[in-house]
Amino acid sequence: MAAPYLAIFLCYYFLIPYRLIIENRKTWELTEKNRLLVQVEELKNNFISMMSHDLKTPLARIQGMSDIVQREGPDLNTKQKEALLNIRASSEDLLNFISSILNFSRIESQGVELHLQSRDINNLIKEVVKKLEFAAKIKNIELILELEPLFSIQVDGDLVKQVISNLIENAIKYSTEGSKVLITTEEKEGFVVLQVADQGLGISSEDLPNIFMKFFRSKAAKASPIKGSGIGLYLAHYFVSLHKGRIFVESTLGQGSTFTVELPITPAIPAN
Ligand code: ADP
Repeated sequence: MAAPYLAIFLCYYFLIPYRLIIENRKTWELTEKNRLLVQVEELKNNFISMMSHDLKTPLARIQGMSDIVQREGPDLNTKQKEALLNIRASSEDLLNFISSILNFSRIESQGVELHLQSRDINNLIKEVVKKLEFAAKIKNIELILELEPLFSIQVDGDLVKQVISNLIENAIKYSTEGSKVLITTEEKEGFVVLQVADQGLGISSEDLPNIFMKFFRSKAAKASPIKGSGIGLYLAHYFVSLHKGRIFVESTLGQGSTFTVELPITPAIPAN
């Protein structure tokens, strides 16, 4: 008869309080861990932006100085001119790298707000291509545009331009001299489909699944002298998904790659 009372007594005074203490402790530990993680993330972001800023200033000075020597300096011999060009190019690479890290850490910490406007993707492509024509010309790469007339769609023009720019820049960067880059657009099943196809380095089937991951660079890219940070495609993927679109790649190592971006048309607004 006394056994049930004893059980209730034990439950009430020992088991339940014990379980409550354990659960509270777990919640407290999780909150504490979370607070620490937020602090570490903040510290990391502050550190990156401080470092990047502090590195940018002396680098800009190096570039300025080498420009002055190149312009106004005494007659330099070929070797010296080459060295100066090398200084200029390396500091340009480093500055680009720092800018992309800075931009990236800002996006990671603050996120991105979409500013949707009615834009014709073909016009965005033409704006980007105009800026990259020179880079293509230096490598004797032909940029071919095959753009179908499109309806304007609601997109954040700046972000979509960053995506297009990254894809075309990569196509130029990872292609050999004298090759072709084909940029096409069409409307298909409720999407504007944009493709950038090159005949360049290509990506192995082993590396393909990781290509949109943060800081990822393919084995072939790392083995080549081509510089990069592995941030561009990660951001392109992020920006496209903010638009509820898709980005993917088909590629064969040593033969070339085709990147495809699909952006939803709805709500469609007729182009002017
Ligand atoms: P990166 O600054 O390294 O070019 P991205 O994020 O733009 O960074 O690209 C990630 C990686 O994807 C590159 O390092 C390269 O290995 C691969 N990649 C991207 N575009 C191409 C391309 N057109 N051809 C071959 N590889 C590419």
